[in-house]
Amino acid sequence: MNPPLAVHRAPWLLPISQPPIADGGLVISNGKLLAVGRFRDIVRSHPGVAVIDHPDVLFLPGLINAHTHLELSHLAHLAKLPAPASFTEWIILLIAERAKAAGDPEAEGKRIATAARAVLAAQQQHGVVAIADISNTGLCSSLGNEFKGRLLCFSEYLRLRADAVNAALLRLHAEPDSNYCTGHAPYSTHVDLLRGLKARANRLGHVFPIHIAESSAEIELLRSGGGELRDFLEHRGLWDDTLPLGEGGAVNYLHRHGLLDRRTLCIHCVHIVGEEIDLLAKFGAKVCLCPGSNAYLGVDSAPVELLLRRGILPALGTDSLASNPELSIWREMRILAALHPALSPANLLAMATLGGANALGLADRLGTLEPSKDAAVLAIELRAPARTAGEVQEQLIQQGGGCRLHRL
Ligand SMILES: [Zn+2]
Repeated sequence: MNPPLAVHRAPWLLPISQPPIADGGLVISNGKLLAVGRFRDIVRSHPGVAVIDHPDVLFLPGLINAHTHLELSHLAHLAKLPAPASFTEWIILLIAERAKAAGDPEAEGKRIATAARAVLAAQQQHGVVAIADISNTGLCSSLGNEFKGRLLCFSEYLRLRADAVNAALLRLHAEPDSNYCTGHAPYSTHVDLLRGLKARANRLGHVFPIHIAESSAEIELLRSGGGELRDFLEHRGLWDDTLPLGEGGAVNYLHRHGLLDRRTLCIHCVHIVGEEIDLLAKFGAKVCLCPGSNAYLGVDSAPVELLLRRGILPALGTDSLASNPELSIWREMRILAALHPALSPANLLAMATLGGANALGLADRLGTLEPSKDAAVLAIELRAPARTAGEVQEQLIQQGGGCRLHRL
């Protein structure tokens, strides 16, 4: 039997789809939001319905972590080291760590899964209700039942040489339609394979996440075919001179090769210029920023104000523990706030919720508190009283992750 209807009342309600509401109320029915608004309006439209008071909390939609790699959680020691000298150095370190022969593969597998489970549990504790994970090993798919939210698991294809494309496409064609598949980046997945992956994602209506413009070395490679990434690829026997070069950076690369549309999720977007932001806006492409990872790797910070000015609301992602010492969307908001003082707390909260829902194609269910959406509502206790909507949002971001939180 369904629980009886109740009006939940809190001193503040942050719907994201509209400004904060003082003395707010919402009604939940069968796991969905039935009504959201001012308490006095809600009780008037729901006469006789019991009221449950939550006197010390605010209501917020669940957070969304739009980019991570759970299978790297056991490499947390990497991001505790001093930052590597360059992005390419970090890739070399990461590959070496992943390749370290484990004495017992079964025990190693268990160790990796245990670390990933701990990250998932922490995400839940921090109020995350949807995660997009990218995996080379399929670990994510085995963890789905352990996360009380939406865990989107993307299998990542990495093949840069032209002579490896056909075998990869054959493997792709054998994937069940229910599997999400994607490419890693323009410098690590051959353009023909990226095209095959994107065509499949479009046919199935899947989101297509791809790392782009994370480092200046990537842009140098895409423009000139040179630089430290070229040296790295050559050294590993991955360079075969088939990477199509051109002006205009990584977004332009996606555009030139038909990879840019409203289901493309461009992860990082640190080294992009104005005309590329215009392209992102024109094609309705989505953007996910990973400020914590970018800060650790010292690759600079994405032009978030320019994105917002062009009407693009980015999502936020933590990336993995191998490049970010702490996986918390609250901390991602604080890092952005520190680096970009012009951003408002309302902008940051919208990125962490609605931006993520848009990016993952989940905006019909998550991202805001609106009737008919999922009742993925966080009830968060602020440590100090806040008098204005601005104070509430500011405090929430500064304390988030450290304050008591439960799901309604
Ligand atoms: Zn990543």
